[in-house]
Amino acid sequence: MKHVFGPVSSKRLGQSLGVDLLPPKSCTWNCVYCQLGKTRKLITERQEFFPREAILEEIRTAIDGKENIDWITFVGSGETMLYKGIGWLVSEVKKLTSIPVAVITNGSLLYIPEVREELLEADAVLPSLNAGSEVLHDRIGRPAPGLTFRRHIEGLAAFRREYKGRLWIEVMLLGGINDSDEALQDIAEVLREINPDMVHLVLPTRPAPEQVVHLPSEERIERAISILSQVAAVVHPAKGVMDLTGSPDLVQAVTAIVSRHPVQQRELLKAVENCFPGEKEKAAGMMKTMLESGRFTVINHNGEPYWVISEH
Ligand code: SF4
Repeated sequence: MKHVFGPVSSKRLGQSLGVDLLPPKSCTWNCVYCQLGKTRKLITERQEFFPREAILEEIRTAIDGKENIDWITFVGSGETMLYKGIGWLVSEVKKLTSIPVAVITNGSLLYIPEVREELLEADAVLPSLNAGSEVLHDRIGRPAPGLTFRRHIEGLAAFRREYKGRLWIEVMLLGGINDSDEALQDIAEVLREINPDMVHLVLPTRPAPEQVVHLPSEERIERAISILSQVAAVVHPAKGVMDLTGSPDLVQAVTAIVSRHPVQQRELLKAVENCFPGEKEKAAGMMKTMLESGRFTVINHNGEPYWVISEH
């Protein structure tokens, strides 16, 4: 499948079937922590990058007869809301199934009324907010011209007023960048303005190809939870658990996931082992075969091996 991948399991969204609407990498930001590497060309113009009917057909096929999907999640190789017509897709998916729909977005285009309108039928929207000041907003997100900090906050606040679903703000906590008390208090202040249902704290656990970013210390994570929970309930950062069981083509499923973000080798091995209960050797053999295929490369990040897609 070209646009649909997973399901991938996470603490936040359970078994989540991913839908990627974008050619890599199409984004309005160029975050220092991005797992997809540098945004070579920042874009803000929305387009229907791929025919919406073909994407809907893929979703229909992927969910057919499956009972282990908790969420259908629009997420992917860049900023999701750059896809013009996402509102139509959300609406059509909701006609197809009772599985709730989530949209992960950096939120940078929410200042545009028609973008907000396209999200109204989603069950949960997860926009990013990594800074409570213009300086850190620009330093972390390195946005396209015109996507200012104030515009970001005003877009999020306007969306909150119009949206009746669950608004879960994602805060990426970066060691040495936005984890000081001052930076966290600034984030808390703008969160008050936005009034989300929940805050999801996330960590840069995966390698960022462009520049080194650091995990915050446990003490800083606890401090962030303590400061931000004065505004909304905070979900503790947790790593997702990948689920490959039930994938008709294991190599294709792994390729679809690894092409969207680096995957820790340990996590991948565990997921492959779960496909072959009691047959650890078979799982190890499968890992070896996949690696020998040349599709994947192992890189090192914080002393941990990760799988990434090989560049040809
Ligand atoms: S918004 Fe997401 S895709 Fe875009 S640069 Fe930031 S992390 Fe990467």
